Amino acid sequence: MEAKYNISVVVPLYNEAESLPELYDWIVRVMQAHGFTYEIIFVNDGSTDASWQVIEGLAKKDACVHGIKFRRNYGKSPALFCGFRAAQGSVVITMDADLQDSPDEIPELYRMITEEGYDLVSGYKQKRYDPLSKTIPTKLFNATARRVSGIKNLHDFNCGLKAYRIDVVKNIEVYGEMHRYIPYLAKNAGFAKIGEKVVHHQARKFGKTKFGGLNRFVNGYLDLLSLWFMDSFGLKPMHVFGFLGSIMFFLGFVAVVVVGAIKLVALSNGTPAPLVTSSPYFYIALTTMILGTQLFVAGFLGELISRNAEGRNDYKIEKEV
Ligand code: UDP
Ligand code: MG
Repeated sequence: MEAKYNISVVVPLYNEAESLPELYDWIVRVMQAHGFTYEIIFVNDGSTDASWQVIEGLAKKDACVHGIKFRRNYGKSPALFCGFRAAQGSVVITMDADLQDSPDEIPELYRMITEEGYDLVSGYKQKRYDPLSKTIPTKLFNATARRVSGIKNLHDFNCGLKAYRIDVVKNIEVYGEMHRYIPYLAKNAGFAKIGEKVVHHQARKFGKTKFGGLNRFVNGYLDLLSLWFMDSFGLKPMHVFGFLGSIMFFLGFVAVVVVGAIKLVALSNGTPAPLVTSSPYFYIALTTMILGTQLFVAGFLGELISRNAEGRNDYKIEKEV
């Protein structure tokens, strides 16, 4: 695809009306100072305040501003997804609408993508201006994400300020709450050169955070687990379930042999043979064989599902000659 602009700025927002004019002015100032061609895509995620009126006003006076308005609040990931779908710049920058991320970082991020060959550059809020209740769990979260994803050089997976080569955003599908793991999604899609840039961070000026609750940690870990599973076994579910099922079945088989042997030895010695059900091995055999069978069934079902899945042969092809 021929890119229409140097840069597309994608801004997901939910009730950020006060911040928008200032953010817009700031982005424009940076773009003009560096002579970039650009578009700004505001994705209004079902705001109930005046955000949409502000966006309409900006779009009316400036053709570089595009707005997308959701009928209701879907979440940050769906907002990014729609922004990515609309983006037409050769580099896509995402940033939060709340003025916590600084547009002054854009030129350097752009340079890292276009000149240093990065596919994705994530911001790193080394010095954060958020309450401790946010920063401490975030450390733990990032350490886990680094391990599971194998992207060892990222300190801040969930930073809202990121830059992407356009191919990246067109080849990944951000859904649910997966915006926390976009670098992992990109890696799974085959984009290997992922970097990081220390960025300035500021305290929120207006409004308050939309991600305060604690359940985001539970959900965050579950999402990480699904991504890991999809990455490792998504295309071959039988390999994991079949493996576990075989182990279970083998254990069950050994237990059956033990139970049988005890009985036979007793019979051949002429001693009174104990009941099969009085042996613990009997119960081990019972449970492991049932579990083994169920794991196999899960594996076969997984294979049937992935054989019928629409995206089963959806490989990311980079080039053809
Ligand atoms: N956001 C969104 N939809 C939501 C929640 C948040 O588009 O359902 C936007 C929000 O308006 C902001 C960005 O996502 O532009 C980051 O949210 P926030 O600043 O509340 O998160 P924090 O910086 O506190 O982690
Ligand atoms: Mg914020």
